[in-house]
Amino acid sequence: MKFVTFSMTDGAHLGLVDADHQVIDLTAAWPAVSAASAPRDVADLAVLGTEGLAITAEIAKVANARRLDLASLTLLAPVPRPARNVFCVGRNYKDHIDEGLRAQGLAPKPLPEAPEFFTKSPAAVVAHGDTVPVHAKATKRLDYEVELAVIIGRRGIDIPRAEAMDHVFGYTIANDVTGRDLQRRHGQWFKGKSLDRSCPLGPVVVHRSVIGDTPDLAIRMRINGELRQDSRTSRMIFDIPAIIEQLSLGMALEPGDIIATGTPSGVGYAMEPPRALGVGDRMEAEIEGIGTLANVIAAD
Ligand code: MG
Repeated sequence: MKFVTFSMTDGAHLGLVDADHQVIDLTAAWPAVSAASAPRDVADLAVLGTEGLAITAEIAKVANARRLDLASLTLLAPVPRPARNVFCVGRNYKDHIDEGLRAQGLAPKPLPEAPEFFTKSPAAVVAHGDTVPVHAKATKRLDYEVELAVIIGRRGIDIPRAEAMDHVFGYTIANDVTGRDLQRRHGQWFKGKSLDRSCPLGPVVVHRSVIGDTPDLAIRMRINGELRQDSRTSRMIFDIPAIIEQLSLGMALEPGDIIATGTPSGVGYAMEPPRALGVGDRMEAEIEGIGTLANVIAAD
């Protein structure tokens, strides 16, 4: 099952995408099947757990469920305004760590022993097709990072590795847009990572049952059509169960939480010479089996 959140005159609606790129409006169809209030985005559906998926399947079976052309919809981020910050993992691909050390003139270091966590504010989240501001006053070194993101589907604290995937609802794409100079200047990464509208997310969420628990997916970023990042999600240092096990220690994960799992090599600041994003640049973050998340850098 593949889900989108899209904009209608009365606000956000949740949709189920079929193989022909037709979208069933689950929000509109829900009241005929369930007395519970209709989900309006992917986080609402994640909260409903297996019952939500059962109602979704029931709606999909009904021949007269309203269908819309995916291409005609204005997509929102799958979770347009998350309840909490987007959790992120830094330096989770060895080739990206190596390029970062090289770019800063630093000697090779041992791989991290624990995942490095940071967050992006809910105000950073934007949809496929939205613009990302250049933030000219804040940064001269705006950069991109394609990442596989997971949406949490079940609450849990101190989640053991063996049970971690039971807490995943599905997968989407994140672009962890970063002000590199801010990231370095402020010691902690939060300032450089959490500029407004710096977290494109989407375009769809693919349910975990479709992709499976050990995703080995091609992951790529193109800037103005030029291939910059090209790797596989199986090359993460800390896999998704390890990330969930460590992040949930002493801190409950909630349905609708988002975790971006790190980026492979090929980011702009590590190129020779380094490259920064500018107004008009088109970022296309692609992950096999999910789709392409495209956003253009705009003037402030
Ligand atoms: Mg990142």
